Amino acid sequence: MKTIIDKSFSFCYGHRVHNQRLDTNFTESGDACLACRHLHGHEGLIKVFLEEEPGSTNLKDTGMVTDFKHLGWFKNFLDDTLDHKMILDIKDPLVSEELGWLLNHEAHLDFSLLHKMPEGFWVPDMTQITQGIKTLQDGYGGPSVDSPKSKAILEKYEGIILVDFVPTSENLSAWLLSVAQEKMKDLPGVKVQAVEYWETPKSHCRVEA
Ligand code: ZN
Repeated sequence: MKTIIDKSFSFCYGHRVHNQRLDTNFTESGDACLACRHLHGHEGLIKVFLEEEPGSTNLKDTGMVTDFKHLGWFKNFLDDTLDHKMILDIKDPLVSEELGWLLNHEAHLDFSLLHKMPEGFWVPDMTQITQGIKTLQDGYGGPSVDSPKSKAILEKYEGIILVDFVPTSENLSAWLLSVAQEKMKDLPGVKVQAVEYWETPKSHCRVEA
């Protein structure tokens, strides 16, 4: 007998699949629209599945694989990292078009303007972006930091996270599985078995450890 538990989480996010290709022989009525290349959003649903490690006596001793509350950190991670964020591939050509503040003189991403987070994604350094707006204001008569335009620019940057993969359901699932595995390895007797992900109610992905 094998006992597996899971807990569900949801979050809203934006993304685009910049490498989408279609074989119209298999699409509905020959649909050729690469709509996933558009900036768009989803309400994602994710389930994290946990099982006992071999030799664990958690279930025998406590009646639980582990307490469901031990996935509370994952909700915090989703809320803080992904919820209401635009997730973009760091190699997406749109990044240099949309996020020009993050480029160096050769128009390459300037990693000194990004924070790399332990879970393997990057966020813009908002202090430096704010400073950049101030410099524009002082030197070139640009809009003040408090102006609606400057606030909108700052809100754009604070709403972005960059990842080193195309943010498809499959890649997001694999990444979130690895994030969950890394954290849960410190909890005795339990391991992450799989992650399931619904980009829409009808589009589902399962990635197993
Ligand atoms: Zn999508």
